[in-house]
Amino acid sequence: MTRPLQAKERIVVVGAGRAGHAAAERLRESGFSGQLTIVGEERHRPYNRTPLSKQLLTGEYALDDLALPTFTELDARWRLGCRALALDPARRVVRLGGAEDLCYDGLVIATGVDARVLPGAPLHSDRIHMLRTLEDAHHIDQAMGHATGRLLIVGGGFIGAELASTARARGLDATIIDVSPVLLSRGLGQVLGAAVGDLHRDHGVRLHLGVGVTGWDTHDGGVRLTLADGEVLDGDAAVVGIGTVPRTEWLAGAGLDTSDGILASRTCHAVGAQDVVVAGDVARWPNLLFDGVPRRVEHWINAVEMGQHAADSLLAGPDRSEAFTPVPRFWSEQHGVKIQSVGSPHLGSDVRILEGTLASQRFVAGYLAPTAGRERLMGVVAFDSPRELLTYAPLVGQNVVGPATPHAQSA
Ligand code: NAP
Repeated sequence: MTRPLQAKERIVVVGAGRAGHAAAERLRESGFSGQLTIVGEERHRPYNRTPLSKQLLTGEYALDDLALPTFTELDARWRLGCRALALDPARRVVRLGGAEDLCYDGLVIATGVDARVLPGAPLHSDRIHMLRTLEDAHHIDQAMGHATGRLLIVGGGFIGAELASTARARGLDATIIDVSPVLLSRGLGQVLGAAVGDLHRDHGVRLHLGVGVTGWDTHDGGVRLTLADGEVLDGDAAVVGIGTVPRTEWLAGAGLDTSDGILASRTCHAVGAQDVVVAGDVARWPNLLFDGVPRRVEHWINAVEMGQHAADSLLAGPDRSEAFTPVPRFWSEQHGVKIQSVGSPHLGSDVRILEGTLASQRFVAGYLAPTAGRERLMGVVAFDSPRELLTYAPLVGQNVVGPATPHAQSA
């Protein structure tokens, strides 16, 4: 049996994002009084990333509004602007730049993700941007400010859709190009993805869907993209938001499974190492509330809850830890419409409108999966219906007999 960590031992948190911060807070809240070191590649202390594509760019928030509320004195040694280069789990050492070794008794890995680079996109140009960090948001803000009005957005996921909405709010022309025929299809599926597409069209966003970019030309006046169908689009700047890559490159040779993020057990312990837990976007674990398939969840609330749970698991040890079985939740805001999701909609094969109508862009949709003669509610998504959502959210993960409600209609 692994011994629980005692006071006065050393815990290292690699990753100073939301998950790492939540883990550090929970460690102190739980009475861990040993040495706590937090390593982060960005120069900043952990901050709220969710406004980067929205309120920070519309001017609704200032920089100070990104600060995370702190409820606990962390009393941590901060190693910011510092990259972890390697992990040796047998020696319990994290190697930093400058050949510095950090020894640990317990390790939290919360290194998050990077924005995925699109091959061929000339990222060296000051006309082409990606969005992950505060600095990236600053560059996009400048591009939006200087632009005479045309922003090209490659990728119609959450970053692309939120940026398009922000650009329209700032009076810019916005065009989204996505290889998928439907916006946000991974997160919301075909039916609601199409509804999001309508929402964007209604607000003047041009959509080029089901087509990729084959040519990039940047010049003093802006950027010209050639699409696979031959169409040519001119803009003042372009932003690429085509998904993410887990930050696991530093773990090469450490014996962990990093095939898509870091494989963790149901309790958040890294598979293949002792006294190591994983949290946030980089963690792939089986959420037994739904099924036993390990998956990553890239949402803000999950980073908080998983950071806290991972800290508990680290202190307790694998034999005394509980499974991490959250109901995932996220929200987005596009063209003034609040989109909220509870559960794992992508695991449902049948979408049903439970309240409202798609046409009104005010509704609650249920995502159902057939299970042995019944249907199981895997997730619910609401458009501008926060109160109605509360009725269905508690049912997520449960079997529902027949239509989920009397109002149900198949979409
Ligand atoms: P994303 O949501 O995974 O969307 C990426 C989109 O880009 C997908 O539609 C994808 O299509 C498309 N794509 C992939 N390759 C492409 C290509 N070569 N050309 C054009 N389009 C391409 O990723 P994201 O928008 O970059 O966001 C990154 C992460 O941050 C995601 O996990 C997202 O959930 C999270 N995020 C969340 C929020 C929120 O919760 N409100 C806000 C912002 C970001 P396919 O699906 O067909 O590959």
